[in-house]
Amino acid sequence: VADTLTVAGRSARMSLVRSRGNRATELRLMALMHEHRITGWRRGVGLLGKPDFVFRARKVAVFVDGCFWHGCPRHGRTPKTRIAFWTAKLARNAQRDRIVTRTLRRSGWRVVRVWECGLSCKRAIRTMARIAGALSRNPRRAH
Ligand SMILES: [Zn+2]
Repeated sequence: VADTLTVAGRSARMSLVRSRGNRATELRLMALMHEHRITGWRRGVGLLGKPDFVFRARKVAVFVDGCFWHGCPRHGRTPKTRIAFWTAKLARNAQRDRIVTRTLRRSGWRVVRVWECGLSCKRAIRTMARIAGALSRNPRRAH
């Protein structure tokens, strides 16, 4: 399929994909949380960085990071065209992620960042354990 797109068209199309709000990935995590009886989350909470799922009572924020946009160590890669553009863009994304995580943690939130690929059948159990683990601890105090 990719071969039918021109290089420019491909880059343009990739630019349109938003880094957050990947519906399929979010639905997958919702299904997994249901399966693992993880409840109490809300979506669309206006918190810094727009976490995908927020457990307000436990002060836990969950982000689902797309492997491409957020530079997953296994699948992150820089496209072969417009290299300078993509290198800068992906570096900015990674930096923003770090700042958001740090800032939320400083105000007492527990932040769980889940890779898109961490939702695969093989890795889902471990990912769900991370979320459950964050929820089982006492809410953090701001420091
Ligand atoms: Zn990945």
